[in-house]
Amino acid sequence: MSQVYATPAQTTLPPLLAGWHDGFAALGPAFFTRLHPTPLPAPHWVGMSAEVGRLLGLPDDWQLREDALQFFTGNRPPLGSQPLASVYSGHQFGVWAGQLGDGRAILLGETATGQEVQLKGCGRTPYSRMGDGRAVLRSSIREFLCSEAMAALGIPTTRALCVTGSPQPVQREELETAAVVTRVAPSFIRFGHFEHFAARGQHAELRQLADYVIDRYYPECRADANPCAALLRAVSERTARLIALWQAVGFCHGVMNTDNMSILGLTVDYGPFQFLDAFDPGHICNHSDHQGRYAFDRQPGVAYWNLLCLARALLPLIEDVQQAQAALDSYEPVFVDAFMARLRAKLGLRQARAGDEALMDGLQRLLSAGRVDYPIFWRRLSHAVATSEFEPVRDLFADRAGFDAWLLQYQELLAVDDRALAADLMLKTNPHYVLRNHLGEAAIRAAKLGDFSVLQTLQDLLARPFDERPGHEAYADFPPDWASHISISCSS
Ligand code: AMP
Ligand code: MG
Repeated sequence: MSQVYATPAQTTLPPLLAGWHDGFAALGPAFFTRLHPTPLPAPHWVGMSAEVGRLLGLPDDWQLREDALQFFTGNRPPLGSQPLASVYSGHQFGVWAGQLGDGRAILLGETATGQEVQLKGCGRTPYSRMGDGRAVLRSSIREFLCSEAMAALGIPTTRALCVTGSPQPVQREELETAAVVTRVAPSFIRFGHFEHFAARGQHAELRQLADYVIDRYYPECRADANPCAALLRAVSERTARLIALWQAVGFCHGVMNTDNMSILGLTVDYGPFQFLDAFDPGHICNHSDHQGRYAFDRQPGVAYWNLLCLARALLPLIEDVQQAQAALDSYEPVFVDAFMARLRAKLGLRQARAGDEALMDGLQRLLSAGRVDYPIFWRRLSHAVATSEFEPVRDLFADRAGFDAWLLQYQELLAVDDRALAADLMLKTNPHYVLRNHLGEAAIRAAKLGDFSVLQTLQDLLARPFDERPGHEAYADFPPDWASHISISCSS
């Protein structure tokens, strides 16, 4: 695709990003198509992360620079790098979907700091199928805010450097406007990349991809007698730990297709995601998910199913079904351990003890039966442990007797621990500010009117989600009634 770029206006400025590495691009043309982003008219800044800027080694003033605005909108060629869209396949909603690929994301390259930089929403690619190659402002803001919120919660994720917007109209259910998110990760390789070459019987490319991933990201697997089985085990374990963190914090991804599963165990492709408000284990956040395949409590099982797809793709390299199965078998115990450990931390229990599992099960039943607000419960419990004043927690439950019985059990386990230490751990594990749907929605509504202040406030609060900031109580409150009517589909 040939593109017309604006002539650089400030050629004397130091380059934004210099010293691109070849990285993924060195795999060769079977893995991607070289192409440039399609420019967007009249871009403007929507959101920016100084922290991710530092991660990339950008100059301090990048957020003020016109060339950065143009660059991250895809309106200037990245000097020294040859951008590309990668090809992958995958299972969508449990069904083999065949070839997919970067339909609206273009990889600019890998920086000297070992980070890949990708522009999402920057025009059509050979993998766009029926899509327009664009992303709308609404979904781009959601992806930006959530990437950075997850990072601040310590949950592995792709990062987001910035969002730029353009007046260019984009048709979804309604007419919206275009935006571009600049995403950053050590790698954007998905399970679907492996499935792609396995499905086509391209075993040389499959091996090349596995070797690349092992050498770059899992070098410890090289020493194993069966490096690809070791890779499968390592990915299974990372995925297990990721999903454990999702389940503990109440994060629902919404579209856990195999093409949305990172080989590095990162949260990737933020679409109709949601942090739970009221605790409902069967919650479905994606309005396009009619069967509830990706309901909140199905995520651990779906992740395993996705790992099975990865295992099947890797089998020609592993060459031994039993070794592949043994690698997959690590998923469940690692998930259970990681999930229990996180719940224990949420409860301020610093050691595993007999009775803690029953305590957690009982709590889950109570929260679910009462549809108790999940983030507020944890935060109030953290304060209650600090002050020994449990009434505000009790108030959240209609079943007071049930709660009292649970509390007795909890206090018994807690009695062995130092209360101050327990409360401290809880206040650092249970976030005060969570990117609830209605908060994202408020930022989006304001941004559509050209006001980015809500987004900035939210971004700032979510960057330190455990610190209570006076004057921002509304951001940590129960969701308003209208929150339950927000409809988030796959359309983005
Ligand atoms: P997702 O469900 O967003 O992970 O996307 C699934 C597939 O559809 C991927 O191959 C995407 O690149 C592609 N896709 C999604 N939206 C668009 C779009 N607007 N234009 C082109 N491709 C898209
Ligand atoms: Mg995707």
